[in-house]
Amino acid sequence: MKSSEEKKPNNSRLSENKHIITVGVILGVLLFSMLAYFVYFMVAERQETVARAENNRYDSAGTRVIRGDIVTSDRVAIAYTEPGSTADADVRLYPYRELFAPVTGYTSMGRTGLEKTYHKTLMTTSLSFSEVLRNDLLNQRSEGDRVVTTIDSDLQYYCYNLLGEYNGSVTVVDPSTGKILAMVSKPTYDPNLVKEQWSELVSEDNTSGNLLNRSTQGLYSPGSTFKIVTAIEYMRENPATCRDFSYTCNGSITIGNNTVHCEEIHGTVDMESAMAYSCNGAFVSMGMTLDRGKYGELIKELGFGSTLIEDLASSKSRSTINKGTDDFEMMQTVFGQGQTMETPLQNVMITAMIANGGVMMKPYIVDHLEDANGIVTVQYEPQEMKRILTEEQVEYLNAMLSATVDYGTSPQAQSMYCQVHGKSGTAQYSSSLESTHAWFTAYADTEDSSVAITIMLEQGGHGSPNAAPLASSIINYLYERD
Ligand SMILES: [Zn+2]
Repeated sequence: MKSSEEKKPNNSRLSENKHIITVGVILGVLLFSMLAYFVYFMVAERQETVARAENNRYDSAGTRVIRGDIVTSDRVAIAYTEPGSTADADVRLYPYRELFAPVTGYTSMGRTGLEKTYHKTLMTTSLSFSEVLRNDLLNQRSEGDRVVTTIDSDLQYYCYNLLGEYNGSVTVVDPSTGKILAMVSKPTYDPNLVKEQWSELVSEDNTSGNLLNRSTQGLYSPGSTFKIVTAIEYMRENPATCRDFSYTCNGSITIGNNTVHCEEIHGTVDMESAMAYSCNGAFVSMGMTLDRGKYGELIKELGFGSTLIEDLASSKSRSTINKGTDDFEMMQTVFGQGQTMETPLQNVMITAMIANGGVMMKPYIVDHLEDANGIVTVQYEPQEMKRILTEEQVEYLNAMLSATVDYGTSPQAQSMYCQVHGKSGTAQYSSSLESTHAWFTAYADTEDSSVAITIMLEQGGHGSPNAAPLASSIINYLYERD
């Protein structure tokens, strides 16, 4: 009995213990479920920004995330958010006003530039879970990810001032990587004031196109800078004999009913001096021997007809050349007139390709993405597009383009520090001979790397006197600042 009596309370204790265990398990499961749900909620909250992009989920992400910064390669913030008490009170600031507008774009009245392309990135945080959790518990918003560009802030500032009162663009590229180091476009706008100035900016009366990024979207006749393309095709089709090319210029060349004039009588020239003096007659003479189908293919290989850069709004450069092109159009195209239309970015990528030993790189403007603590989340690498030139062709083009600067049309591009290679262009854009755009495209080795530059001045007159000195100034600046 005793033992059974003793057993009873034992049994009841056992049953109580079972109860406690059951309740404990239930509580545990509940707690775990709550935690799991909480974790799920947190993770999902961070990830849904990706999943629901199309529904403009990011537009309301501001309730949890402060829009991230856009910075230059030297870590200057060119777009950042001054947080308000609520997301609606946030102010997006562009501290350098017009200076970086072609790069950042704006994020009011819609979005453009990197503000548009990297909207999701800027409105998503890659901070650690614990940091986001801590911020949430403190009822604070987390900082969005940062976009780190390839732009060199001092060089951008220098180029912007250099362009002065001209309308047009300056584009500077690192030939070995395709990194865009500076991208200036004028006239431009202040991204801080887009909302206030909207009706004026988009007014039909405003023909200056302030919102246009002239480097990537502006299409212009390339003028004589296109002689580089004709020279490449001529070298390709005449590998053994191109250095024997000879033409005697008497000031004009006539084929059928069409005559092309030179600025002066150049006498007998080879390819090098034809480039140096920018002899239209010599290039027409060379050009009319070319296979029009292959010439058209080369133009495509160089990037015409393609989108060169996805991160910024851009136009495709245009050429009509194909195997069926008639004599008149071919004759005009080979020295840079005709229907060819080119963006300054396309122009500088051709020059950069020569400076890079004949290999075309893909231009890019975002180096990497990172979280607000600077931990890299995505690193963009240089991309080789295509080898265009052989070593011998590069060598001959180097000679042609240094001759242009040393004894040819463009001594204004010379630098006291290094050999500059370049080509000027003066492009008619209307029937009036007075209405010309000025181009100069150049490359040079600076102290520890090389640089390719295209200057484009709308209604800028002639390339050599007006655009070439700007290229020289940029090269000198790069030397002197180090
Ligand atoms: Zn000539």
